[in-house]
Amino acid sequence: MPRLYPIERNRDIGIIAHIDAGKTTTTERILFYTGISHKIGDIDEGTTVMDWMAQERERGITITSAATTCFWTPRDLPRAKENEYRINIIDTPGHIDFTAEVQRSLRVLDGGVVVFDGVAGVEPQSETVWRQADKFNVSRICFINKMDRVGANFEKSLESIWQKLSPDAVALQIPIGEEDKFEGVIDLLNLKALYFEGENGERVVEIALINDKGESRPEGRKEIPHNLVEKAEEWRKKLIEKIVAEDEKLLEKYLSGEEPSIEALRSILRKATLSYKLIPVFCGSSLKNKGVQPLLDGVIYYLPSPVDMPPTKGTDQKTNQEIERLPLDDQPFSALAFKIASDPYVGTLTYFRVYSGHLTKGSYVLNSTTGEKERIGRILRMHANEREEMEEIYAGEIGATVGLKNTSTGHTLCDENHPVILEKISFPEPVISIRIEPKTKADQEKMGMALKRLAEEDPTFKIKGDIETGDTIISGMGELHLDIIVDRMKREFGVEGNVGRPQVAYKETVKAIAEAEGKYIRQSGGRGQYGHVWLRVEPRERGKGFEFIDEVKGGIIPQEFIPAVEKGIKEAVDKGVVAGYPLVDMAVALYDGSFHEVDSSEIAFKIAGSIALQGAAKRAKPILLEPIMKLEVIIPQEFFGDVIGDLNARRGKIEDTKDRLNLKVIDAKVPLSEMFGYATSLRSMTEGRGTFTMEFDRYEEVPANIAQEIIEGKRK
Ligand code: GDP
Repeated sequence: MPRLYPIERNRDIGIIAHIDAGKTTTTERILFYTGISHKIGDIDEGTTVMDWMAQERERGITITSAATTCFWTPRDLPRAKENEYRINIIDTPGHIDFTAEVQRSLRVLDGGVVVFDGVAGVEPQSETVWRQADKFNVSRICFINKMDRVGANFEKSLESIWQKLSPDAVALQIPIGEEDKFEGVIDLLNLKALYFEGENGERVVEIALINDKGESRPEGRKEIPHNLVEKAEEWRKKLIEKIVAEDEKLLEKYLSGEEPSIEALRSILRKATLSYKLIPVFCGSSLKNKGVQPLLDGVIYYLPSPVDMPPTKGTDQKTNQEIERLPLDDQPFSALAFKIASDPYVGTLTYFRVYSGHLTKGSYVLNSTTGEKERIGRILRMHANEREEMEEIYAGEIGATVGLKNTSTGHTLCDENHPVILEKISFPEPVISIRIEPKTKADQEKMGMALKRLAEEDPTFKIKGDIETGDTIISGMGELHLDIIVDRMKREFGVEGNVGRPQVAYKETVKAIAEAEGKYIRQSGGRGQYGHVWLRVEPRERGKGFEFIDEVKGGIIPQEFIPAVEKGIKEAVDKGVVAGYPLVDMAVALYDGSFHEVDSSEIAFKIAGSIALQGAAKRAKPILLEPIMKLEVIIPQEFFGDVIGDLNARRGKIEDTKDRLNLKVIDAKVPLSEMFGYATSLRSMTEGRGTFTMEFDRYEEVPANIAQEIIEGKRK
């Protein structure tokens, strides 16, 4: 089956918003209006439509599904198959605390619709998400929503976008009335008033503000206030000046008095939006069914198709060279798995975006990240109220498959004859651990399964067993992150857990070379015990880990006992010698010892190894290491002094400070142990406007006075 939509008519987008701005409502309206268009434009695509009840039940699920597909024909084109576009909406979380979630969705989408609350304007979380979208080069259009609410103010909201996000935002619309007088929008390019009629605003009524005779006196059923016509003309002038400034030829014509055509303006605005130079702004009220259809036109006109994006980078696994994959159907297949979700109807769904080539149902692909082959039994596409089974999927498209065993978020799936690893979604290392146990012992197994499932979905969440106590230790990106995991375990898997206090993952190492003897000898009648070793410990470079070296010559210690010595050493290494944290970056050489023909045993040598290691490490200037975090804080200028002072008090090292628009960007390195509760203090220092991101950088020596407190248990 050939591709139904040329790649140019694909849009992979996300609706990005601060929580409560109206993302869900807007998405619902989009699915509603596009559903109408799809039914009219295309009745039978050979899809299986489920019975009505199942549709209703699933609707709630599809809206929050990781990717939903819908279709739209821009309103000024004739309704025909060749004018229809496919829009894949990729879900983006509103909560920025899930860095992994935000990053993986931003990684696979090309464009975004950023939704703002028309009363609140830009909120702190919108700033954070906006900056993440900058990092992933996501082209954007804005939608100032809730124009019907008390306190809604279009100009103020737009100003807050200019001030806090980007001076390059340009209004393509202004509202007709605000708050309870909000009636519709004015399309500035076409100078038309748009009203949304019908039960669900599905009928868009357009009235030209300028009549055929060039008089600015509207005709039609609606009375448009005269001052609004003038205002629209002023705004239009601003818009056009911004657009023509992006193109020399157009600018010249404009300056010589020639009015540019709508097509020319649109085309330049598209280019400028794709290159992040301009950001079109729309407005409306999703709840009152106003303004969503022109926003969809905006998605088509101004947001990129997969071919507008730079080629995808990856590493050729045969040559280890960096290569590019183009969004063409005849290229070797490559795709990125970006979300694993459990679906109540079909089981585990793996969502993926195809970057190059195409994939046929029933074929095998290579998971180049793990090196294992996977069979693609089914290819699915989620619509608002149905699941479509597909035979094939092509470059630029988003799909899901069922039942992959060993594929996780961020893995590359590709043609086994052309192995490539696409640029990974880089996830930070977990830095905080807590112990967790089920509330009732009977739930032990269930808890294990629940945690395993959650870890499969979330690459920044890890589980470990404490060998000694049998406890389960979970680690993640922060306190809130782990709170949410525990909460999901309860809600989704019915397991309640008790957790301990969050702990920083300290480590220990040695700074000098030292030797020690370990003896475990018990010889008092009958068969005794005899283990005797000499060890030397040496520091290794940071990050090099632990190494065991066997330097025993001439059978001073029989070969069969050496693994036992190593085992004893490893156990002691895990326990540490300073404050109970594992020793790292250290080499241990076994170079001497003795044995007894009868009494020597594995257990005796294991204990001797353990004793010797402790002795040697204690003499080798052992120290504590702590995780140091790389921190980026973004704040309005006026809070700079306070924030810097606070970072210094937290033992932070400021590495760089930059200006970005009217903001200050601070790069610093700060010990993790000083960062508990930072979100709250930053919020209170900056009236809620400061944001930060933090990731693990490296381990460093803990200063002596603080190490002392950790050893004495005064500090965690
Ligand atoms: P999300 O958290 O961004 O997904 O936001 P929702 O779509 O759930 O909306 C949050 C709240 O705002 C809900 O109570 C909505 O009914 C309300 N809401 C959404 N859009 C509008 C709007 O255009 N006008 C008004 N007045 N309320 C809206």
